[in-house]
Amino acid sequence: MLPIVAIVGRPNVGKSTLFNRLVGKKLALVDDQPGVTRDRREGEANLLDLHFRIVDTAGYEDEDPQSLPGRMRRQTEAAVRDADVALFMIDARAGLTPLDEDIARWLRESDTPVILVGNKAEGKAAEDGLLEAWSLGLDEPLALSAEHGQGLAELYQALMPHI
Ligand code: GDP
Ligand code: MG
Repeated sequence: MLPIVAIVGRPNVGKSTLFNRLVGKKLALVDDQPGVTRDRREGEANLLDLHFRIVDTAGYEDEDPQSLPGRMRRQTEAAVRDADVALFMIDARAGLTPLDEDIARWLRESDTPVILVGNKAEGKAAEDGLLEAWSLGLDEPLALSAEHGQGLAELYQALMPHI
């Protein structure tokens, strides 16, 4: 069985963009509007010589942001539980939001290893967000640009011990 990597994070941080890049097919919808990924999608991913299953989650894309944890959020939590490693993605340009902090809180308590990924990290606009990400109490944020394919060597190195 292939190792499993779950991508989690609030809407619009670039989870589906990374999923598409690693799977190499447009299996996940990418959209400027949050909430496009309606449920979890899975595919087989390659990153250099690493071969794994990848899960693109949408658990925090509840239509009502005020709603209590619902079915989709529970799906995300299940995806993380079942994964060998979770990629927790934040938007390094936008900076942290309460939802990022909320997700980080339960990921810190999860038994699944977590790699913190600061996406949209191309250019200087991401520097403050990457610095701020240290406050999440996870490990060093990994700077990535899913759209431009930057940071994939660092992602490879971070994933390798878990795969
Ligand atoms: P998801 O909701 O987390 O799955 O996010 P998506 O993958 O749908 O992406 C949301 C938006 O962010 C889209 O407009 C993407 O084109 C954009 N995006 C994704 N990755 C990057 C990146 O590395 N840099 C920048 N600047 N934009 C990105
Ligand atoms: Mg998505």
